[in-house]
This record gives sequence, C-alpha cells and structure tokens, in this order.
Amino acid sequence: MPREFPSRHFSLSEILTPSRYSVHPMAPIHPPQNIAIIGAGIAGIACALAISRELSPFVPNLKITVYERHDVLSTSGGAINLTPVAQRHLAQLGVLDELDRMGPEGGADVDAIELFSMRSGRAIGSISFTDNKGKGFGGYKGRRVMRISLSVAMLTVAERTRNVEVVFGKKVVGGEEFDDRAAVLFQDGTQAVADLIVGCDGVHSAVRTRFVDVGRPAEYTGLSFLQATIDSDSLSSPAHFRTSSLNISRHGSMLASYCDRDCEQIFAAAIVQFSPEALSSYRLEPGQDWATQNRIRCALRGEIRDRFGKCAIPCIKEIIESKADWMLYPVYQVRPGGRWCLNRVILLGDAAHAMPPRDESAAYALDDAILFSRVLASYRSEPLTEAFDAYENLRRDTINHAFKESRRMWERNREMGFLEGRVKEWMMSFHLKSNEHAREAAWEFDATKIALPTPAPSEDLVSLNSFLRNRTL
Ligand SMILES: Cc1cc2nc3c(=O)[nH]c(=O)nc-3n(C[C@H](O)[C@H](O)[C@H](O)COP(=O)(O)OP(=O)(O)OC[C@H]3O[C@@H](n4cnc5c(N)ncnc54)[C@H](O)[C@@H]3O)c2cc1C
Repeated sequence: MPREFPSRHFSLSEILTPSRYSVHPMAPIHPPQNIAIIGAGIAGIACALAISRELSPFVPNLKITVYERHDVLSTSGGAINLTPVAQRHLAQLGVLDELDRMGPEGGADVDAIELFSMRSGRAIGSISFTDNKGKGFGGYKGRRVMRISLSVAMLTVAERTRNVEVVFGKKVVGGEEFDDRAAVLFQDGTQAVADLIVGCDGVHSAVRTRFVDVGRPAEYTGLSFLQATIDSDSLSSPAHFRTSSLNISRHGSMLASYCDRDCEQIFAAAIVQFSPEALSSYRLEPGQDWATQNRIRCALRGEIRDRFGKCAIPCIKEIIESKADWMLYPVYQVRPGGRWCLNRVILLGDAAHAMPPRDESAAYALDDAILFSRVLASYRSEPLTEAFDAYENLRRDTINHAFKESRRMWERNREMGFLEGRVKEWMMSFHLKSNEHAREAAWEFDATKIALPTPAPSEDLVSLNSFLRNRTL
C-alpha cells in the first residue's frame, strides 16, 4: 500500500534518494502494485474500480488508495445528467445497481431533454435518449441524479472492492517523482509514495498545477451556473416538460428537470454570463454572518429575475419568482493542449481536460478511467511511459474535438441582442436536427470494447527472439 511518512521526520528526498530506489536498466518491468489516486470524484472512484478489475488478475498484491481532500463526501453540486454512455459505464462498474437500490433518490429516468423558447414558450426540439422504438441506446437512456447520490453509490462499490481504500481529509499540495516511485505531499504534512499516481482531482487539480504541468491553471469561462432545488408541489403551474427541459433565451438558458424518480423535486440551473469581478461578491462561504448570506441570496434571486423575468413559460416563471436559494457555480475550463503525464504520474478527467460542462462531461471522465485501466493492464510488462503514450494517442483527438464542441455550445449562452437571440432560437432547432445522427452514434460508444494498440515488443525481446530463431535454423 502507498506508505505515508510524517514530513517532520524525513524530507522526501531523504525517503526516496535515487540510490535507494534507482532501477537497474535491465531489471524486469513489473506492473504497478501500489497505486495512489488523487480525488474521490467520478474519475477517481471509476479509475480505482476499473484498475482493480483490469489489473487484479495480474497483480495479486495490488493496492489502490484514493486520497480525497474533503473530510466527508461533499453534498454540494446539485444534480447531474448522465448520458447513455455514462450509465453504461456505471453499470459495468457496478454503480448503477447501487443507484437503483436507492429507490427514488437514485435519480429520474430521462427519455429526452426538451428545448423551449423562454420568449414564446414554443417547443424548439429535443435531445432524445431513446431510439424510434422508445428504447435506450445499448439499453440505457439518460438519468438526472443528485451528485451526492451518485457519490454515495460510487463509494459503496469502492468500499466493498477488496484492494481499494478511500482516505478522506487528504489534500494534495505538491509532489515529486523519483526513478521508480512518485510521491504526493498532503497539506497535513504527510506524504504518500506509490508506483503510479493518477491525478483525478478535478478542474483545479493540484496534481496538474503543482506537479505535472505547473503553470496551467484553470481559466474562468465567463459563464456560471446558478442552481437551486425546488419542491414540485410548491409550484401551482403544471410542468411543461416530461422529465427534463432546457429553456433558452438571449440572456442564457435555464435547465429545469426532475431529479428523483417520484418527481418530487425540480432541479433548476441557469447558465448565465457573469463577469469575473462579480463572482467574489456572490460567493457564499462557511463562516459568513447571516446578514451577508441573506444579502447574497437576495442578490442572486435578483440576477435570475433580471435575466429571465419576462419568461413566457408559467412553470419557469414561478421558479424565477420563487424564494429558491440559488447557488453560484463559476464554470472553469482547462484547455486540453497541455501535458497529461510525467514518468509515473498521469492526469485523468477534469484534471486533464475540464471542458465547459455538457451532458457528456461525466461520460468523458468515465471513458478516461476505463480506457486508461485497460491500457495499463495491456501494457503491464512495458514501462509506464509507454502505457501513458498509448493512452494519450488513443484519447487526445477525441478530447480536443469534445472540448471545441463544448466551447461552441457554451458561447450560445452569452448575453445577446434581440436579433441575435432570434437567430439563436432558429439555429438551435436546425442544429439539433443536423446533429441527431452524430449524437446517437456517440451514445453507442463503449470504452470497454474499443480496440487498444498492442504493445510493441521491446528491443531486447526482439533481439532475443531473433537470436533464438537463428539458433534453431
Ligand atoms: C455546475 C456543473 C454542472 C455540471 N453538470 C454536468 C452534467 O449535467 N452532466 C455531466 O456529464 N457533467 C456535468 N458537469 C461536469 C462534471 O461534473 C465533470 O466533468 C466531472 O465531475 C469530472 O469528474 P472528475 O472526477 O474529473 O472531477 P470532480 O468530479 O471535480 O472530482 C474531483 C475530486 O477531487 C477532489 N480534490 C480536488 N482537489 C484535491 C486535492 N488537492 N487533493 C485531494 N483531492 C482533491 C475533489 O474534492 C473531488 O472529490 C458539470 C460541472 C459543473 C461544474
């Protein structure tokens, strides 16, 4: 298991002097046995489960430790939409069964996200998660679930996985690489040493900014989410959608969706432009006095009303005028062009490539985890750097493309003039139709099935093979 050392007694370089751990150039290559994953989010837990499944047959003493900065699971973050791809991956990891076991809290099935104009109330089109027979893609539709439910389900599966341990209250603040090990430093002064470190610590990743690609901080996109949860029976107007709606206007968009199977709660999320200067005045933080918190809450309600007050959809209008407690989530991005790995450290999920969120974002984090684990198992007799290269070759183009798509989508939520807003509405229905096939094809994607490159035999092996062949001729 990754060892922890009290930093007051040793410095990292004392613990891991190259002379103690240096590798003989001809030493056989062993797959990593002690793996440290940083961050117990979607990518981190999925990576632990997927590595455990792929590598356990080859590494009997495999030990995977996930280090999470929070002391307990975070309850913030509202609800998340899972696409058919994300659901398929979660099913393969055993997480979907756990979600289903939670009953209504396990999320609401989403057949389609219906789009409406806030100006006219008119339906614009829909993003359907079912085929023309009403069946999900590869058996899976969409699902809107509270983040906390998803985290609990993932953690439950991790807890019963023999070689996975999750340690809370461990905030990474730095790291160092040595010949055959790498180490991370925690804020509490301890360190963990492992054969492989996987940075899954999200958009503001310390593994990225302090270790792998110093100087690549996340950038604010200029857009933010304002999120709230509302009891459905507190609204007198009937919902204009079946499970999920995206209501667009020239001032941004407002998502309204049930997030539990009994449709008792509506999750609302407005995507709006916010200047970076405005962000600090709207930040709710622990320890703030009641008056400050109340002032921020009232100001956020005002922001929602200013932007969407003229909405023509009664149910959305009621949400806008309600006393809902809106929370501000600034949206950051990490351009995917930077470095993803060193020799023993790799970044996955948002830590490597946070894109402005879209319904597919979590699926990309899950794809990363599953693909990387498969590559790691397939390259188990090769140096880690070769596994990293193979993974990057498999992933870079897809991520670059997805990032560009997300940016394009998000630009449509910036403040617009009247005419531009009308063009946006008109273009949206055209865009939905013209992308239908590409979207449906993407939802068939299965990271457990795509072909992996095969490791090239090393030069030593090639020469040994030719030596043996020559001897037998
Ligand atoms: C407001 C919002 C709405 C979104 N909605 C959707 C949606 O509907 N559908 C969708 O697919 N995607 C959505 N996304 C995107 C999606 O949430 C992310 O793509 C996904 O969570 C990425 O997973 P991750 O594990 O890489 O990062 P995260 O989920 O951010 O997990 C990172 C983990 O690392 C921990 N951590 C951070 N720093 C440290 C440290 N220094 N040391 C130790 N641990 C650390 C964090 O506490 C966290 O647990 C949304 C994103 C936002 C911001």
